[in-house]
Amino acid sequence: MLTSSAKSIAQPVVCTGVGLHSGTAVQVTLVPETDLGRGRYFVRTDLPDPAIIPAQVSQVGETVLSTELVAAAGTERGTVRTVEHLLAALVSHGVKAVRIEVDGPELPLLDGSAEGWCGAIATAGLISLSPQPVETSPPHISEPQWIYDGDVAALPSPTLRFSYGIEFQEAPIGKQWHSWTPVEFGANGDDFLHAIGKARTFGLARQIEQLRQAGLIRGGTLDNALVCDEERWLNPPLRFENEPVRHKILDLVGDLSLIGTIPQAHYVAFKASHRLHVALAKAIATPL
Ligand SMILES: [Zn+2]
Repeated sequence: MLTSSAKSIAQPVVCTGVGLHSGTAVQVTLVPETDLGRGRYFVRTDLPDPAIIPAQVSQVGETVLSTELVAAAGTERGTVRTVEHLLAALVSHGVKAVRIEVDGPELPLLDGSAEGWCGAIATAGLISLSPQPVETSPPHISEPQWIYDGDVAALPSPTLRFSYGIEFQEAPIGKQWHSWTPVEFGANGDDFLHAIGKARTFGLARQIEQLRQAGLIRGGTLDNALVCDEERWLNPPLRFENEPVRHKILDLVGDLSLIGTIPQAHYVAFKASHRLHVALAKAIATPL
């Protein structure tokens, strides 16, 4: 199998927006990084002595409604949350090393999908960090792995594949299943963008007040998340008839990328969450 070479971006690119949970404006600058040993990492430029926050599964902190990474020292000054959409865009383009400067505690939600991040990567361009692609076997899952307290698993598979199911009492969502088999994962990201990356975050009207009172989704609006009540979407049109479950695959891809390289497997999740995605990533990263 032909493995795409590891890449970084060719030049810096800036993205600005509002964090979903914090509601504050933030600026993100993606900066080329040529050291594959440093990989993908965040730097909180708003802090006096900013720590490096590696985008690795060992650094995961909170996983309530988004994934948070914590600096190695574990101090409050070095955290960044809602990293999953950017990380999914990066891994789908094969970007294995990049410095991500952010001047706040949360990445901007943009339009709720990874489309803006894919656009930023396209603007920056890609550079190869390793010699030409070589004929090699990618890492793969040889024994099934699953998490006991939820429905998420990695199964041996001849191709990389993601299958996800969700089930909500709200009629507009109901039960949805979707499977995605990337054509050229880690190449140019086109396949990801059009099948998964454009799918937006979604929310339930009945939960909005409760989440606001918990100090969450302060930056949530009808412009950056699909919202539905029991009977209808409050802000149609949808980009896909099953946009919510496609977005869950986007979240899963971003969370699994914290392993480093996503091993070849069939990943299956049902009514899962960032917590379960990360639990599976940890199980794969540290096999018994
Ligand atoms: Zn998401």
